[in-house]
Amino acid sequence: MPIAGRKVPPVAVELEHATVASPISGREVELPAMWNRMFESRVLTDYGPDGFAQISALPGGESLEWCYGCGKCVPVCPVDVVGEYGPRKLHRKVQTGTDLFTDPDLWLCTTCGNCLRVCPKEVDMMQIMPAVREAALTDGGTVPAELQDVFEKTFRYGNALGANPRRRAQWTRTAGVPVRILPSDPGPVDVLLYVEDYWSYHPRGQDAARAFARVATALGIDWAILGHEEKTVGDSQRLAGEKGLFDALVEDVTATLAKYEFARIVTPDPHAFNALVKEYPKRGHTFDVLHYSQLLAPLAGQLAWQQELSLKVTFHDPCYLGRHNGEYDAPRTLIEAIPGVQLIEMGRCRENGYCCGGGGGGMWLDGFAREHTAERLSERRVREAAQTGADVLAVCCPYEVSRFEDAAKSTGNDQLKVRDIIELIDEALGHGPADR
Ligand code: SF4
Ligand code: SF4
Repeated sequence: MPIAGRKVPPVAVELEHATVASPISGREVELPAMWNRMFESRVLTDYGPDGFAQISALPGGESLEWCYGCGKCVPVCPVDVVGEYGPRKLHRKVQTGTDLFTDPDLWLCTTCGNCLRVCPKEVDMMQIMPAVREAALTDGGTVPAELQDVFEKTFRYGNALGANPRRRAQWTRTAGVPVRILPSDPGPVDVLLYVEDYWSYHPRGQDAARAFARVATALGIDWAILGHEEKTVGDSQRLAGEKGLFDALVEDVTATLAKYEFARIVTPDPHAFNALVKEYPKRGHTFDVLHYSQLLAPLAGQLAWQQELSLKVTFHDPCYLGRHNGEYDAPRTLIEAIPGVQLIEMGRCRENGYCCGGGGGGMWLDGFAREHTAERLSERRVREAAQTGADVLAVCCPYEVSRFEDAAKSTGNDQLKVRDIIELIDEALGHGPADR
């Protein structure tokens, strides 16, 4: 049984005498000891259908019941590596009486999608978890305080960090190149950079945003940002259960976008990318959207490299760029184009990439996850990255730099530097090392 989410070896139950009575002759047969543990009394029909009935009644919650117990999802679930998890185990817990609406397990799934990739019955945690979380939120269920705080900040300020919207473009002042901000400089533009929250406000995200500004300018890309008019696209809030907040953000974001003329949206954030590609069209808003790696990969041959970096680099696939949207090659094309960089893959990469723990609201649940699992997923991933012998763990999701830098410190792997790919490109273009 799991204790506070930690794996505990099972205790074998040995009976002193184990016999089976024949229902026909009544004769009792003594069983050898190796079989004893099989005959603990167990009455399967005691389990009621209520848990599944409640979940199946929710739009999106139907598929948990489809599980037929093959167990393929458990070994690929990142949370099971640090606890007791995976759709199969959740199915069993619900079957045996766990109320998922109030259980801490409700908040541990990162919606990384690795279970759905292997599930023959298409049990879909990306539908089940948001549906049950939304019901828990609506019915006053137990919502972790740190997540509730992020919902409130997003509602009030339009970003998960609770930062002043007027400071959204402050990072541009130290980019070293002019950055066009549409509200003060309107007119048609090719690329609208949807900066999102962590590149706008987090100090390490801002480093990457400034690097992007220099690289895009060096390539002669016609690009601009929305500045203080930008709000988060809201995908992680949706997956964490705040569908109402997401719907309101879709209205706000699309109303702002409708004011400007642009050919393409480019974003560094795989979560924003996912929502703009998959969720906004369901609500009638379709755009031409690229992740920044997809914009730059075809242009890699045009970059005027100034120096070799002489680094061994391993790369972490963001779940919402890779598994959820099928883009594995563009980031690798960029890494391999950088002079002096040797790419070393981790064992779990591409389709089977290990989640950093930030998806589905996990970005804001580190404290909660620490209480209910043996180790944070970011720590687990950093240890895998360090085992490759790489100098640098390269990322291309704004959630990951700060998560992995914290994890590198807490696991004693300070020698492993964490860099957004765009920072490595910027450095090799001679725009200054990011020697933090
Ligand atoms: S892979 Fe699908 S069917 Fe198999 S145990 Fe997991 S959820 Fe159930
Ligand atoms: S989506 Fe990811 S974290 Fe959630 S149950 Fe499936 S494999 Fe585990």
